[in-house]
Amino acid sequence: MEGWLFLLLPVAAASGWLAAQRHYARKYLIEHTHSLRKAYCRGLNYLLSEKTDKAIEAFVDLLTNDFETVETHIAVGNLFRRRGEIEKAIEIHEALIVREDLNAQQQESAQFELGLDYMRAGLFDRAESIFQNLVDHEDSRRGAFQQLLDIYQHEKEWSKAMECTRQLQAMGKPPRRGETVAQFLCELAEETLCSDCEKVSRQWLEEALREDPRCARASLLMAKLEMREGRFDEALQTLKRVESQKSDVIPEIIEPLRICHDRLEKPVGELIGYLGYLYETYGFESAALALAESIRSEQGAGKAIDHMMRVLENNPTLKSLNTLTGFLLEDGAETQREVLIRLDRALDRMYSYVPRYLCTHCGFSGSELHWRCPSCRYWETTKPS
Ligand SMILES: [Zn+2]
Repeated sequence: MEGWLFLLLPVAAASGWLAAQRHYARKYLIEHTHSLRKAYCRGLNYLLSEKTDKAIEAFVDLLTNDFETVETHIAVGNLFRRRGEIEKAIEIHEALIVREDLNAQQQESAQFELGLDYMRAGLFDRAESIFQNLVDHEDSRRGAFQQLLDIYQHEKEWSKAMECTRQLQAMGKPPRRGETVAQFLCELAEETLCSDCEKVSRQWLEEALREDPRCARASLLMAKLEMREGRFDEALQTLKRVESQKSDVIPEIIEPLRICHDRLEKPVGELIGYLGYLYETYGFESAALALAESIRSEQGAGKAIDHMMRVLENNPTLKSLNTLTGFLLEDGAETQREVLIRLDRALDRMYSYVPRYLCTHCGFSGSELHWRCPSCRYWETTKPS
C-alpha cells in the first residue's frame, strides 16, 4: 500500500505549484486592478479640477498598462480633441477602429469620435462618410444626422441639410440650432435670386411657405422678387403678411413698404395710418421714424416735431433725437441754428457706432440682418435692436 504512495508525490507537487500560481495570479490581478483603479481616479480628479494636461498624462499612462480598455482610448482621444491636439486624437481613434476585438457598440462609439475629430480638423469629406455610415445604426443615428446637418450647412448643400432636418424631426428631436427646412429653402431661393433665375426662386419660396406658413424670411424675399418684377400691389400684401408671421422682423418691411406706396402713388394718409398702427402696437422705432417722415411730407415739419417729441418721451434714443434735430433745423428759430447743426452732426457720428442687429443667443451684434448668426450659428436669433 505505502509502496505506491510515493507515486503521488509528483501530483502533490504539481497541485501545490498550481495553487501557488493561482495565488500569485490572483494577487497580481488584485494589485493590478487596484493600481488601475487608482490611476483612473487620479485622472478623473484632474479632469474634475479642470487640469486637462495632467488628466491626459494620467490617462496616457493608463493606456500603456491597460491596452484592452476601449473606453479609456476613446476618452483619451476625446481629451486630446478638446485640448485642440486633433492629430493625436485622430491617431488614437484611428488605431482603435481597426482593432478586431471591439464589439459593435464600441466600434460605433470609436467611429463617432473619429468623425468629430475629422470635423474639428476641417476634414469634412472624411467626417461625412463616417457619419453617413453611422445613420444606419440605431444608437448613433440622431448624433450622426446632427453632425451631417452641420457639415451640409458648412458646405452650403442646402438640399442635403433639408433631408437631415427632416430625419431629425421624424425622430422627434428637432435640430439643435433651430434649423428648419423653410430656412434652407430660403437659402436656395436667395442663391437663385442672385443668379436672376426668378422663376426657380419663386418656386423655392412657395415651397418654403407651404413648409412653414410662418416663415417671414420667405415673405420678405417674395416681396423683393415681386418688387423687382414691378408687381408692387402684390409686394405690399406680401409685406403686410410678415406682421402675423414674425412680428420681431417688422422693421425689415418698413422701407420696402414705403417704396411700394410711392410707386403705387397711394395716398400718404394710408401709409401714415399703417405705420401709426405698427408703432402703437409694437413700439418699433423704425416705424416711428418712417411715420415722422410721412407726417413731415404730408403735414409739415411742425407736426413731425410734435410726433418725434412724443416718441422721445416714450423711449429716448440717439436715432430719435437725431431725427428730431433734423426737423428742428428745418423749422427752428434762426438763433438756435448753429447749435443745432453741431448737435446734429455729433449725433450722426454717435449713431453710426450703434449696432442695428443683435443675436439674442450669443450677443453678436452687427449692421445687417443674419438669418443664421455668424457667431453661434443659431437660426433666427438675430433681431433688429
Ligand atoms: Zn448668435
